[in-house]
Amino acid sequence: MNSTWHVLGAGSLGGLWATRLFRAGLPVRLVLRSTNRLAEYQVAGGLKLVEQGVSRIYRVPAELADATEPITRLLVACKAYDAEAAIAEVAPRLSTGSEILLLQNGLGSQQAIAARWPESRCVFVSSTEGAFRQASFDIVHAGQGHNWLGEAGQGEPPPWLAELEAANIPYSWTHAVMSKLWRKLAINCAINPLTVLHDCRNGDLLAYREQVHRLCNELSELLVACNQGGAADGLEAEVLRIIEATANNYSSMHQDVKSGRRTEISYLLGQACQAAHEQGLEVPELSGLLQQIQAFLRGRGLPED
Ligand code: NAP
Repeated sequence: MNSTWHVLGAGSLGGLWATRLFRAGLPVRLVLRSTNRLAEYQVAGGLKLVEQGVSRIYRVPAELADATEPITRLLVACKAYDAEAAIAEVAPRLSTGSEILLLQNGLGSQQAIAARWPESRCVFVSSTEGAFRQASFDIVHAGQGHNWLGEAGQGEPPPWLAELEAANIPYSWTHAVMSKLWRKLAINCAINPLTVLHDCRNGDLLAYREQVHRLCNELSELLVACNQGGAADGLEAEVLRIIEATANNYSSMHQDVKSGRRTEISYLLGQACQAAHEQGLEVPELSGLLQQIQAFLRGRGLPED
């Protein structure tokens, strides 16, 4: 009998994972944050997933954190700033040797969680899939991508990877998940804050190429200092390639700010600056950018962390 996938956070990415696992016939339960959200979910009648313009509702069972069934596998799909507190609510239900899969972007939240629940096996996921919520429990699968799963150490692939295969969730097990997370963080630091400050689409950053160049230089030095030299290889070229390939898109941070939502800046640029500080590395471009974006967020009445 397969273990139940408890999915904590039924937003964009949580919904995308939960629906695919559920329709593959695997046991899935959503863990919602409040009785109000549970009532809204019941009214919605399930999770709607839109793929290539076709929408379908999946009646994935849902519950609250204080349900009683023990949790052996927890997929955490909250934002980085919510993840630790959300796990704390279900922590009494985690069984010995439970697994916690962390879908958060950036770095910092995963390490805090792994340190707080050392009895659980924490699997970090770096995802390039794209999904957004057009309404509560109504999710659009917007971009094909991949999921790299791995542990901070050199863990062996778990047997349930076959369930991802069955659910058509694209994945690879890697011993270099930290490198993947650092690389994605660095790319984000070079693109997203600038799109917010210049209020522009990704492609418009070609007009600020010199600043992008200086940021990529500092980020590469930082990655090397953090023993992540592999993640520094060809960084600037990839950043420019992404800027061109996604020229018409607004970055996720830009979209968050436009919609008045909290950003994950502390887990991205904030983490880069903190890591530089710990390494004794001067990063004036990154620090200046962090100060500017924090001031900008304050000015908009948004949290600066
Ligand atoms: P999202 O759409 O905002 O979903 C987050 C969900 O977490 C929301 O449904 C929220 O509940 C729920 N939540 C927060 N606290 C909770 C709690 N205590 N108990 C239960 N649920 C709780 O965010 P997302 O876009 O899926 O992003 C999740 C993470 O994946 C982020 O770190 C993001 O950077 C990363 N990521 C996202 C994508 C993407 O395409 N979306 C791609 C790659 C990586 P409510 O519905 O009640 O607000």
